[in-house]
Amino acid sequence: MPHFDQINGNQIADRVFINGRIYTVDQDRSWAEAVAIKKGRFIAVGSNSVVVKHMGPGTEAIDLGGKMALPGFIDSHAHVSSTTNESASLEMFHLDSLNAYLEAVKDFAVLHPDLEVIYGSGWANDLFPPQGPVKEDLDAVISDRPVLLMSEDGHFAWVNSMALAMAGVTKDTVSPKGGIIEKDVLTGTPSGTIRETARDLIQNVLPPFSVDQIKGSIQNFMTEAGRVGITTAHDPLMILPDARGQLNGFGASRHNIQAYSEMAQNGKLSLRIRGSVLTDPTAPTRQIHSIVSTCAHQTHPLFQMTGIKVFVDGVVEGGTAFLLEPYAHMPYTCGEPLWEPGALKDLFAAADREKLQIHIHAIGDAAVRMALDALEHAREKNRNRDSRHLITHLHIVKRSDIPRMAALDVIGVPQPFWHVKGDYFRSIEAKYLGYDRAENGYPMQSMAKAGILLASASDYPVQVPSPPLLGIMLGITRCEPGETNPDEILGPQERMTLEEMIAGFTINGAYANFLEHETGSIETGKKADMIVLENNLFEIPTNEIADTNVLMTLFEGRTVYRDVSFGVTYGISQSVDSN
Ligand SMILES: [Zn+2]
Repeated sequence: MPHFDQINGNQIADRVFINGRIYTVDQDRSWAEAVAIKKGRFIAVGSNSVVVKHMGPGTEAIDLGGKMALPGFIDSHAHVSSTTNESASLEMFHLDSLNAYLEAVKDFAVLHPDLEVIYGSGWANDLFPPQGPVKEDLDAVISDRPVLLMSEDGHFAWVNSMALAMAGVTKDTVSPKGGIIEKDVLTGTPSGTIRETARDLIQNVLPPFSVDQIKGSIQNFMTEAGRVGITTAHDPLMILPDARGQLNGFGASRHNIQAYSEMAQNGKLSLRIRGSVLTDPTAPTRQIHSIVSTCAHQTHPLFQMTGIKVFVDGVVEGGTAFLLEPYAHMPYTCGEPLWEPGALKDLFAAADREKLQIHIHAIGDAAVRMALDALEHAREKNRNRDSRHLITHLHIVKRSDIPRMAALDVIGVPQPFWHVKGDYFRSIEAKYLGYDRAENGYPMQSMAKAGILLASASDYPVQVPSPPLLGIMLGITRCEPGETNPDEILGPQERMTLEEMIAGFTINGAYANFLEHETGSIETGKKADMIVLENNLFEIPTNEIADTNVLMTLFEGRTVYRDVSFGVTYGISQSVDSN
C-alpha cells in the first residue's frame, strides 16, 4: 500500500458517513454509527471514532444527522428490461377503463407513426369479462398496424385483427399446450384475447423491441430504482436471441441480453443485474447447452446470469394457475401446467447438473408440488450441491409441501405487495379460488418458521410502483395501507416482522443471487451499496414505513440518487459527487 494512501496506518477513505443509525444487517444484526468507503467498498464500519481515523485530505465527510441507513435493497424478481419504455410501448397501468385504453392507444399510434407494431402493457383483467377484451374495440382505433397489449400481470395479450391475420390465427387454429386462444362463442373466431403460450403464435411473427428500446426500459427502471433504494435486481426473463419456440409471449425482449451486456461494458448500469434465461417447454433439455454458453459469456460484475427461468403454470386471473382442487368459478378445471411432469424432471436434472440455478414461477399448489417433485428428482440424480433453486410467487401452497421445500433448501421469492385483501382479492382471487383458499394464500410466516429463506421481490412492472419500503410494510401488515379493520388482514398468522422483511430485501436477496460476499449487508470489504432514510423504521408506526422517503442511494460508493432536501438540511460537508 503506497504511503500517501494512508494516514497513521489507516487507509484514507474517499468518503465517510458519520453520526448515523446504520442497521448493517450483518450476522448479528448490529448497528453502527459510521462507515468509510474507498474505491466503491466499505473499508470501515463502526463507531464515529473508528471511522474518522480514515479521514485524510480529500475525504468527503457526510453527516447523517442521526438518520437511518441500510444496505441497498435487492429486488429478486423484477422485469427490468420488459416493455416499460414509453417511446417503444404504451404504458396503461395507470388507466382504468376501456375508453381510456382506446384513447391512449389511438394517441400513442399518432405520436409514433414509425413503430411497426403498437405494443403496450398494463390493462386490467377485472375491467373485462372472463373471456377478456375483444379485437373489435382495438380495430375501431387501429386497423392498419398490428396491436399487441399485455395485461397487467404479463400473461395475456389483447390483439387486433391485423395481428391475428399476420400470425394466421383463425377460427381453425387450435390452442397450443399451456395457452388459450379465446374465441367468440357465436362465430368461433378468435375474439382478441390470447393467453399464456398461445401468445407466441403472434409474438414470434412480430418484430421484437430493438436493443436501444430495451436500453430505454432499463434506464427507466434505474431512475426509479435510485429513488426507491434498489441497488441490485434479478431480471427473470432473459431471452436467447435466436429462441423461436414457446416463450410465453416474451419474444419481444429477445435483445435484452445484448442490451444489458452493452450497458455494462459502457459503464451505463447504475445497479447490479443478475438474470435467468427463459426455458422453452418444446425443447426440454436441448436448450441447456446454448443457455450454458450464453451465461458463460457474460462475466461483467454488473451483469451476469445465474441460471434458467421456468414457468410451471400461469396465473389465477386467467384460470391458468395449476391447482390441486378445481377453480371455484370453473369447477370443471384445475388449470394445467405448462410442462409435462417428466419433461420438467429432465430439464431440472440437466440444468442442475450444469450448475445452473433454477428460478421457478409457481402460483398454484399443484405447480408448487410439481416443481418440488422435479427438484427432488434433480437432487437424487446429481446429489446435493449449493444450488439455490428458487420458487417465486407461491400463492397457493399446500401445508405439507412447506417442509419439503425447506428440506430441499429451496429459496422462496414472494411479492409481499400482493399479500393483502385489496380489490384484486375481492374481484378475482376470492371468486376464482373460493374465499377460504384465497384467504389462506401466501403463507409467508409458515415458510419462514420452517426455515425457508425468503428473498422478496416486486415482479415489476406487474407491480407499479414497486418501492421495497411498501413491500416491507405490506409484508408486516398484510392489509391495504390505512386499513384498520382486523378482519381485513390476509392471514394474520402469516405476518412477518420488520427484521425479517428488511432481510428479505437485503441479505437474503444477496444470497438468492450468489452475491452475499459482495452486497446485502454493510460490512467491511463489501461493495458500498447503502441507502439513507428519512425516518428510522424501528421508531415509527408500521403504517408509515411506505411513506418514508429514501434520501440517498449509494451504489458501489457512488451517489446514484439524492433527495433535494438531503444535504441542505443535514449539512453535507462537501458537495455530493455526481460521477
Ligand atoms: Zn414475473
